[in-house]
Amino acid sequence: MNNWEYAESIESEKIVKIEKKYGHFINGEFVSPNSKKYLDTISPSSEEVLSSISIGNEKDVDFAVNAAKEGLKQWSKTSPSERSKYLFKLARLIQERSREFAVLESLDGGKPIKESRDFDLPQVAQNFFYYAGWADKIDLAWGSGISKPYGVVGQIIPWNFPLLMLSWKVAPALATGNTVVLKPAETTPLTALLFAELCDEVGLPKGVFNLITGDGTTGSELVNHKDIKKIAFTGSTSVGKYIQKSLAGRDVGLTLELGGKAANIVYNDAALDEAVEGVVNGIFFNQGHVCCAGSRLLVQEDIHDVFINKLEKRMQTLRVGNPLDKNTDIGAINSKDQLDKITDLVNEGVSDGGELFQIECELPKNGFWFKPSLFTGVQANYKIATEEIFGPVLTTLTFRTPDEAVEIANNTEYGLSAGIWTEKGSKILWTADRLDAGVIWANTFNKFDPASPFGGYKESGFGREGGRHGLLSYLKASS
Ligand code: NAP
Ligand code: MG
Repeated sequence: MNNWEYAESIESEKIVKIEKKYGHFINGEFVSPNSKKYLDTISPSSEEVLSSISIGNEKDVDFAVNAAKEGLKQWSKTSPSERSKYLFKLARLIQERSREFAVLESLDGGKPIKESRDFDLPQVAQNFFYYAGWADKIDLAWGSGISKPYGVVGQIIPWNFPLLMLSWKVAPALATGNTVVLKPAETTPLTALLFAELCDEVGLPKGVFNLITGDGTTGSELVNHKDIKKIAFTGSTSVGKYIQKSLAGRDVGLTLELGGKAANIVYNDAALDEAVEGVVNGIFFNQGHVCCAGSRLLVQEDIHDVFINKLEKRMQTLRVGNPLDKNTDIGAINSKDQLDKITDLVNEGVSDGGELFQIECELPKNGFWFKPSLFTGVQANYKIATEEIFGPVLTTLTFRTPDEAVEIANNTEYGLSAGIWTEKGSKILWTADRLDAGVIWANTFNKFDPASPFGGYKESGFGREGGRHGLLSYLKASS
């Protein structure tokens, strides 16, 4: 059964309506691209073409930024409590149409429906509710000295949590009085396009939210536009560095949410079965396409064998397959490019001398798939121990003492997240205190809350999204 037949079998054709072609959403309406160029977005679980999206060129970007500049005139006169109402309306509409959004996200990006339905969509709505609540309390949050919005902000988001990353960026930007030009990733534009329809439905003033689709060159045009006052970027460290260089010397605000190579540390006194669950969730959630994934398992040497044994047994129960099947645990890899990247790194791990375990399962014929994988016998200098794989691949390292665990955990260019598994509260505090990571989970992993700031250290970027600190990313000192 192909994806569409499956979608029909669960009646989702009544839920999602995908246009054959989409324009950009500028100044409150969908418009054809000046470039006259389009690119296909496909379903990575079947390789079927879902739709064609516009490729934004310099003129398209200019049109969108000008619309956002015009939009600012009205948005800056809109009272904070009115801004709040729009965000509440958007939050409620997202909740009402969350099934449609979830199916679309899974079709376009490959993630399991149980994740898009039970994780992404509830979080998206919560973020809009949360920042709707802040809109008329900004001065209370940071004092009137820092209460000025940047103006027109450019936001560039990746493909792993498309709508969730949109909500992390758009909700605080609008709450603080900025107007937005958003550029989604080329492989996952569809939920952002549906969100644009919602902006129209709630009557958001024209030009306040603008959406420009395309590829990396479109993102680059946005970064380089002379009237952009702030760029918020989530994506790879390499593109993040490129953007930072492009903005050097310009008075443009910047926040970067980049990659990670998080340590998930399991001490020998941890509740092992719970730790196995946390480690599985830490790396296999969303096929491992997660910047804060617990991609390095650091296990205390004396429990290595028993822990790996339990872990392999648990991994074998993971169900890989159609993202629209609600029993699926591991969906499709987002793109052929990403699959090639994962395959190359895993092959290198094997030739370096790592011992590879992959679960036994049949993979669908079409689409992009990778079996949940675990490396043991790894040296700290192997690429699989240092580079972000961004796929369902876990790399194991061992340690003897807590000091050694901290040293290995911090031995990375990245500093986004970490996990600690132990029965002892004092050991949690001792370890957390020494880890260079923006977010640290103890006896759990991948827990998010709109009130809690998220962001990294070192090459994982700077600035925070979420919580009160997420407002600060869209405010500057008033002169
Ligand atoms: P990416 O290539 O950096 O792309 C991210 C976004 O930037 C996409 O919208 C992309 O457009 C756009 N882009 C590409 N080149 C650009 C350029 N020169 N100038 C401006 N924009 C440009 O990353 P990805 O492959 O989509 O995502 C995977 C990476 O993102 C991973 O490394 C992951 O760790 C990181 N990530 C980090 C976080 C976090 O919160 N820290 C969250 C999610 C992902 P196209 O898609 O059209 O090329
Ligand atoms: Mg797609």
